[in-house]
Amino acid sequence: MTTTKVKTVKNWIDGAWVEASTADTEVVPNPATGEAIAYVPLSGERDVEQAVASAKRAYETWKTVPVPERTRYMFAYLEQLKKNREQLAQLITLENGKTIKDARGEVQRGIECVELATSTPTMMMGDALPDIASGIDGSIWRYPLGVVAGITPFNFPMMVPLWMFPLAIAAGNTFVLKTSERTPLLAEQLVSLMHEVGLPRGVLNLVNGGKAVVNGLLNHPDVEAISFVGSEPVARYVYETGTANGKRVQALAGAKNHAVVLADCELDKTVQGVIGAAFASSGERCMACSVVAVVEEVADAFIEKLTAETKKLTVGNGKNDEHFVGPLIRQSHKDKVVKYIEQGVEQGAELLVDGRNATSEEAGYYLGATLFDHVTPEMTIWQEELFAPVLSIVRVRDLEEAIALTNRSRFANGAVIYTSSGKAAQHFRNAIDAGMVGINVNVPAPMAFFSFAGNKASFFGDLGTNGRDGIQFYTRKKVVTERWFN
Ligand code: NAD
Repeated sequence: MTTTKVKTVKNWIDGAWVEASTADTEVVPNPATGEAIAYVPLSGERDVEQAVASAKRAYETWKTVPVPERTRYMFAYLEQLKKNREQLAQLITLENGKTIKDARGEVQRGIECVELATSTPTMMMGDALPDIASGIDGSIWRYPLGVVAGITPFNFPMMVPLWMFPLAIAAGNTFVLKTSERTPLLAEQLVSLMHEVGLPRGVLNLVNGGKAVVNGLLNHPDVEAISFVGSEPVARYVYETGTANGKRVQALAGAKNHAVVLADCELDKTVQGVIGAAFASSGERCMACSVVAVVEEVADAFIEKLTAETKKLTVGNGKNDEHFVGPLIRQSHKDKVVKYIEQGVEQGAELLVDGRNATSEEAGYYLGATLFDHVTPEMTIWQEELFAPVLSIVRVRDLEEAIALTNRSRFANGAVIYTSSGKAAQHFRNAIDAGMVGINVNVPAPMAFFSFAGNKASFFGDLGTNGRDGIQFYTRKKVVTERWFN
């Protein structure tokens, strides 16, 4: 691994790039090659302290900047992001490993979040009703919260931070961002581009690091609210600690997303849909399909086609357009997934396509698309989030069994049905636990003007990200009842 000329990223605090106060760093490898592309500082409490203090100072002025003016920064930011679209996508591929096609898709979804933030004046409006009693008017007003923190995962290094800070800032809050220590370069770019549009100092701060930074934010009395996206155990911890400390918290967590395939589906489209949902971005998506419940009547035909198509998927460096499956984020993650595959075999599932055999000329963390048949809910591969290109097939009698089985999962993020029956689709929509439901739609990730969140162990909190939930999360309301005598 070459370590020459590899920079250590800095924190962005109070309008300047500054070195972290600690000497600890972690290497950031390109997952496609294993080569070091950066070092990330593991910042400490002092860095958090400085960032929050800066955000707190900035808030006193920022909250008084008229909302259309705050929003204009988002219009300018939008242009910056669009202008740098391709460089951002390439950076995502470099540090996250997802293919350039998937990275371009992520850039677009991120841009859409900033588009949402440009509608803040409308979204932030309250309500009013005159004459609620004789001579008395009632109204609701929305105000920002203060200093808000965002803690984000590695798998969407652009989109997930953009779920948070544009809307929070446009609503009048100031922000401290703690992105994944595994993908610090994209965060650096997001902040730099914001700096270029002239956002006043202290309104957006970036502190690199891991657990110590998260704990610093969770325990800081001046942090009013925390937006978190990441794995289930950490989401639970962040929610419990943050709320115990009196903060408003939204914590979007892990997932195990199910698809249900009925006999009357469009078979070829369903196979292609499931392939994309399960194996794109190497399955490292909170909305990735990881279990298919297929009814017996169509199971053999579906599985035969799915197996043939899965075997065609090429694995390799995501910067080359021809590859469908890029590397996993780290060798340690690949090792964990390989163990899950071994467990699947030991527990009696039938391994139809074995991604462990995938080869690449480069020394990245590659795992090919993997397909299991005859999986049951008792198996670990059915229960746990693998976060990898591993798909489990469960054979079911009918729709009722598919729904009952899917609802046994402790997760409930996304769920999809493939059918040509309106009645079946309607029943599925009503009976399934998932927070985001797809009907003949492969990945039912909502557009930014809708809210985004799962149910059960996939989400801790009340208000999701984006859409109306997002603006409600980042504002507190006052209900005013008023009477005037002169
Ligand atoms: P992760 O939980 O390991 O890390 C998320 C954040 O938490 C990072 O910033 C990390 O530094 C911090 N963190 C990690 N361990 C911590 C600890 N012990 N204490 C305090 N902070 C800690 O998640 P990840 O591996 O980066 O991302 C993948 C996970 O995120 C998957 O489970 C995926 O489903 C989930 N995710 C969920 C959604 C959603 O909308 N529900 C979206 C994207 C990703």
